[in-house]
Amino acid sequence: MKKILVTGGAGFIGSHLCGRLLAEGCHVVCMDNFFTGSCDNIRGYMDNPEFELVEHNVQQPFDIDVDEIYNLACPASPIHYQYDAIDTIRTCILGTINGLDLAVAKNAKFLQASTSEVYGDPLVHPQFENYWGNVNPVGIRSCYDEGKRCAETLCMDYHRQCGVKVKIIRIFNTYGPRMLPDDGRVVSNMIVQALKGEPLTVFGNGGQTRSFQYIDDLVEGMLRMMATGDDFTGPVNIGNPSEFTILELAQLVLEISESKSRIVFKELPADDPKRRKPDIGLARRMLQGWEPRVPLRNGLSQTIEFFRSVL
Ligand code: NAD
Ligand code: UDP
Repeated sequence: MKKILVTGGAGFIGSHLCGRLLAEGCHVVCMDNFFTGSCDNIRGYMDNPEFELVEHNVQQPFDIDVDEIYNLACPASPIHYQYDAIDTIRTCILGTINGLDLAVAKNAKFLQASTSEVYGDPLVHPQFENYWGNVNPVGIRSCYDEGKRCAETLCMDYHRQCGVKVKIIRIFNTYGPRMLPDDGRVVSNMIVQALKGEPLTVFGNGGQTRSFQYIDDLVEGMLRMMATGDDFTGPVNIGNPSEFTILELAQLVLEISESKSRIVFKELPADDPKRRKPDIGLARRMLQGWEPRVPLRNGLSQTIEFFRSVL
């Protein structure tokens, strides 16, 4: 039986990934320091003998027998990663080094959860993997953007220097059940506001775009990426190329949730990317025809149901 470590396994994406890996018959070790993760996310797996929880900060080294490592530990929403920017960059860099050292010691495969943020405020649209990005190295998002860029560098240097089988995926905005109601991300914010009858906050004029991927599509892409041949490192974009303005998203949330909330406009945060859309040609070719299956309308309905149940 394959033994798999998921760092950040009690978070939004990590907990869905743990569930899927258990369903595939793997032994799963979930490592988390519960900075933004929650026991509620993994409660359903606690009685499963193939699930282990290790409470640990990835900034400190760890030693576990594993065949594969999914490195997700890192706060992901702007308010969480900006809360203690130095800690965020330490997690990105030290956490990745510690995970890669473990991969060397155990001859394990290592998948890095990178991000579309490595493209910054992109000057190329849609974003291809060979675009090097437009990132402000000294702005309020840099702790995350540059931390994740450095983590990609570390993966490739461990690959070239130590022969680690690395897999880099660049995840585009992903949403679904188990997002935190107060994590400040646009989908969770707007759904919670709509369900509470509060105004939906649109930052700027709402003309900026994002491409929203449902969690199940991402998890499928992650498993397929881990299963690729040892010589394939990526990076590969994993996202849904359907692009929406933030104003369109707000209107869709209002319609599906049948909310009477109004829309209010607030100041646009610094360095907020104007457009974002993945080119997923490489993922289609390399991940056995992987394709996002869940349209935004369906994914939002499922996510709204989740938030109705927790609010
Ligand atoms: P999340 O905040 O829900 O999950 C992150 C998890 O990592 C949490 O459980 C948190 O407690 C844990 N963690 C943070 N610092 C840690 C540390 N030092 N030691 C141990 N555990 C630590 O966020 P998420 O949306 O599930 O994101 C998971 C990963 O995917 C992150 O690496 C993020 O950068 C990446 N990602 C997410 C998105 C997205 O849209 N959700 C997009 C691009 C990339
Ligand atoms: N946003 C918004 N209202 C909110 C939260 C976010 O209009 O309540 C905007 C934000 O300015 C950005 C987009 O929605 O343009 C996506 O924000 P999020 O924080 O979810 O992700 P990221 O900016 O990291 O892609």
